[in-house]
Amino acid sequence: MKSYGLIIDGKKIMTDKTFGVRNPATGEVFAQCPVAEAAHLDQAVAAAQKAFTTWSRVDDAVRKAKVHALADILEKNMPELMEILTNENGKPLGGYQGIGSGMELGGSIAWTRVTAEFSLPIDVIQDNEDARIEVHRKPLGVVGSIPPWNWPLMIAIWHVMPALRTGNTVVIKPSSLTPLTTMRFVELANEVLPPGVLNIVTAESGIGSAMAKHPGINKIVFTGSTPTGKSIMQNGAANLKRCTLELGGNDAGIVLPDVDPKEVAPKLFMTGFHNNGQTCACLKRLYVHADVYDDICREMAAIAGSVRIGNGLEEEVDFGPLQNEDQLKFVCELAEDAKKAGGRFLCGGKRPEGPGYFFPITLVADVTDGTRLVDEEQFGPILPIIKYTDIDDAIRRANRSPFGLGGSIWSKDLEKAKRLASRLECGTAWVNDHASIQPDAPFGGVKESGYGVEFGHYGLEEYTSIQTLKVVKR
Ligand code: NAD
Repeated sequence: MKSYGLIIDGKKIMTDKTFGVRNPATGEVFAQCPVAEAAHLDQAVAAAQKAFTTWSRVDDAVRKAKVHALADILEKNMPELMEILTNENGKPLGGYQGIGSGMELGGSIAWTRVTAEFSLPIDVIQDNEDARIEVHRKPLGVVGSIPPWNWPLMIAIWHVMPALRTGNTVVIKPSSLTPLTTMRFVELANEVLPPGVLNIVTAESGIGSAMAKHPGINKIVFTGSTPTGKSIMQNGAANLKRCTLELGGNDAGIVLPDVDPKEVAPKLFMTGFHNNGQTCACLKRLYVHADVYDDICREMAAIAGSVRIGNGLEEEVDFGPLQNEDQLKFVCELAEDAKKAGGRFLCGGKRPEGPGYFFPITLVADVTDGTRLVDEEQFGPILPIIKYTDIDDAIRRANRSPFGLGGSIWSKDLEKAKRLASRLECGTAWVNDHASIQPDAPFGGVKESGYGVEFGHYGLEEYTSIQTLKVVKR
């Protein structure tokens, strides 16, 4: 069984204690991961602080070149990283419409390259005979990165690359459910980065909250659930840590009566079941106008009937298992509750016999607000389809959620759809799309979906503080 090590100050460190990492397709432990003690975290933070003194001052072009070198590493090691990712996360190597480990690696490379090309130039506010005033963007120091298990490598990349690009150093702690792809990447990255610039610690529990409390960490970038985000904010208050919190969502999509059901159903299906529904900005509540309700239900159920579920290492598998047993149990609970509430199951709904954390693609019609499946974030392959007749009421119901990550309007009338989309209380509103993101457009949540944004120059700015520099000339 393969064992992994912590990487601190450029060195691989094996620990006395380890924990097992499971393959969700079999439920079996297939690798051992180190348990970091508090002293390891202190060492990692000290190494990152030391490295910061030089990394923050090197020429910007050097950091840009290093970030490109990290993209080269991802490219060169793509097959190995894809296999580790499928083993620990469950997503197929290829996957439905190409959303699998290959896409996660491809996205990681693209985000790294685009981030390398961004810079934050000095802003000159005044320059006359009296004075020159410049606004500089300065790195914060040590950034603590805490990613989740659903897109473990790509989200790690979203945290690490802008932090490094702007001159910060990093201590990353991956999810204990999916630590391995990130550990291998950090090991490879340390072949090109100076020691201490990028460190990794792992443990089964406790280390994330220790990071949030650690006085040597200046910022936490966190992607995960809302309760954990709140805990990080509280713990981080001790030294007024900057936080970027990308949290949960319960995104609503609203389908207007003018759509062509055959045309939109595949897109709705894709955005609801992206990564088996385990994506923060998946479509999680689908409101469909009564005029097209039956047609949309029928078209989506037909697609669900055509997909193949299995071990992601096998060719032609569309969807793998859920990533972990707790998530599977939660999805089963929501399905049971929806049955009791009178939900009409168009497909799926029952966990298959056998090993692994599998659950079929499930569409539930005739449920409405007040049912757990509609009100809570399912984060799995089960989607409620809710009938509406009045658009203002649909918008009100979409906005009723405490979350505010994404939302969408589906219509042929683009102007009308745009007006309606702007009424959705969320960080990203799409028209005729959902969950699509790109490295140059900001992405983040409002309300209890968090604050701060990632991507583009807006995202880069979050890893800096402003220094105003005024030179008086006379
Ligand atoms: P989680 O909150 O349980 O865990 C996320 C990370 O936080 C893990 O690394 C975990 O070990 C760590 N952690 C746990 N307790 C901690 C604590 N008290 N202090 C510090 N760190 C702690 O979330 P998850 O189950 O891994 O991920 C699923 C959730 O993430 C869903 O709600 C999903 O919507 C959300 N998510 C959001 C985005 C986004 O961009 N908004 C992206 C992906 C996932």
